[in-house]
Amino acid sequence: MPRWIYLDNNATTVVDARVLEKMMPFLTHEFANANSTHRFGVHAYEAVKSARVQVAGLIGAEAHEIVFTSGSTEAINLAIKGVAENYRSKGKHIVTVSTEHRAVLDTCQYLETKGFEVTYLSVKSDGLIDMDELKTVLRDDTILVSVMLANNETGVIQPIKEIAELSHGAGALFMTDATQAVGKIGVNVDGPGIDLLCLSGHKLYAPKGVGALYVRQRTNRVKIPALLHGGGQEKGLRSGTLNVPGIVALGEACAIAKKGLSNDAEYIGKLRDYLENELLKMEGTCVNGNTSSRLFNTSNMLFRGADSDAIIMGLSNPENNLPLIAVSNGSACTSASIEPSHVLTAMGLDEVAAFSSIRFSIGKFNTKREIEIVVQAVKGVVDKLRDMIIDNEQR
Ligand code: PLP
Repeated sequence: MPRWIYLDNNATTVVDARVLEKMMPFLTHEFANANSTHRFGVHAYEAVKSARVQVAGLIGAEAHEIVFTSGSTEAINLAIKGVAENYRSKGKHIVTVSTEHRAVLDTCQYLETKGFEVTYLSVKSDGLIDMDELKTVLRDDTILVSVMLANNETGVIQPIKEIAELSHGAGALFMTDATQAVGKIGVNVDGPGIDLLCLSGHKLYAPKGVGALYVRQRTNRVKIPALLHGGGQEKGLRSGTLNVPGIVALGEACAIAKKGLSNDAEYIGKLRDYLENELLKMEGTCVNGNTSSRLFNTSNMLFRGADSDAIIMGLSNPENNLPLIAVSNGSACTSASIEPSHVLTAMGLDEVAAFSSIRFSIGKFNTKREIEIVVQAVKGVVDKLRDMIIDNEQR
């Protein structure tokens, strides 16, 4: 039996062996600085150039529209702070959603301290935004609308085409945090009219510490200033010696994802549906969030009467004589806090329900056998926790 059954792929993924193989030379003998002018450096530069084409290719962009960053958090900061700075003469109003990742929310909150006004859209109980609310909050001085494509906790997919259209109608730029979507579902920046998009390597089987920002250049050119100043890399938008191994890895991961999108969707989708249907047979269990507009790999489930931290501990208890199981109860970035998930509470769940919810996020290396083991383990752990509550109440 495997030691770990890893169902926390929205937190991070393992590096695909093919990706590792491709990046390895750039960690060892091909270690040159991509900005060095000798042949050794030129070779690294060429590798970065190919990776840029691969990343652009996955999202329907052109290579010159890709800026490599350390991940999505940096890309989000670069984009939102950049738009705020460059378009402030047009207005100081930004629209986002209460269920965004903290990288977006905290950046917006920071801008509020600098005199910007931010509207945080609410979501309906299924996690989708209300388009009528969006229409009413858009104003002449709105400079940016930032709505994530797929939610990291629930997998709920927002209708970004309509959102982008409304944003553009109001003269605002449209940005999407596509960190959880890119590599899982087909994303084309031209379809919905995306002006800025961020993605992250470690969510699509590349290593941590590399990501990218897409900045529209072909039509409706977006101009943003740099966040990091220095050597002028990435056309001056992101100074700092290029992370060549990471960038090569990201490029390869994007190329692999592009080829595998539909197969992954079918294979992983079946595993997720099996897991969910089996667990829904338990009483007091339901799915959080819209189930038709949702990532195929994610299931956020509420187990009434069972505390999610206790479920997580129970599933990774070595005394169970089962493989250890990794699941989560929210975003890994905020799991150190004892607040209930801001995503689930924004959807109307009370604190107890939010603290009784578990996110399962399946990846391409999971197997049916693993999911069968997880079903049995979750049933066992949840039943035990519920029995403990009944015992306590009877005492
Ligand atoms: N946005 C979303 C939706 C995420 O899920 C994450 C990571 O959990 C981030 C942004 C931050 O990405 P990174 O870890 O690359 O900074």
